[in-house]
Amino acid sequence: MSDIVSRVGVTFPLVCPHCEKPTLALVTSEAHGGGEEEPPYLLEMAECGHCHDPFVMVEEDFGRGWDGEPAVVWPMQQRPLSLQVPQALRHEHEEARQCFSSKAYTAAAVMVRRTLEGVCLDQGVASSGGRPKPLFKMLEQMKDEGKIDGQLFEWSQELRVLGNQGAHFTGTSVSREDAADGLALAEALLDYLYVFSAQFTAFKARRAKAKEDVRGASAD
Ligand SMILES: [Zn+2]
Repeated sequence: MSDIVSRVGVTFPLVCPHCEKPTLALVTSEAHGGGEEEPPYLLEMAECGHCHDPFVMVEEDFGRGWDGEPAVVWPMQQRPLSLQVPQALRHEHEEARQCFSSKAYTAAAVMVRRTLEGVCLDQGVASSGGRPKPLFKMLEQMKDEGKIDGQLFEWSQELRVLGNQGAHFTGTSVSREDAADGLALAEALLDYLYVFSAQFTAFKARRAKAKEDVRGASAD
């Protein structure tokens, strides 16, 4: 855990969660906690320089120190991603959300595509024989290896195409609806891979052990 430096009185730029205007916010108070059973955390109260409404932010130190980028937790903007999703991917997805809330829908679609690339990298399907693979092929490999099923494969291919539309100058920008759906589907993919798959594996292992115990007991 790294040393804590007080941020009270510090101003920082953000899009206000109340009035949605880009503003300089001011940290008005803070509290520290955790460190024994849970990671050290820093709660900050700040107020918008424009509408002066307060909001709450939190930052956690997972052993790599404070990154100085606390997340707004109140007022609730969007459901926070599970901590089981790797930090780098949460960061990408958060940036996609920020693009969306700044009404930069094309940029949001590009960030969703980057998140997909990050997922493939994390899942170890990014290259074959040391050569990087196109995203299309990486997603195909994820499906072939049973990491995602047919439905999720179809979703992720659509997200890839949407991201391509955003990344290249095609004369058409990405609509708000498409960007919103893209974000939601990317979130579902992250949840599926990192939260529910892990939970199901743990559930299966527990059930198998319970069955074994019953068998063991009846053999006595
Ligand atoms: Zn405001």
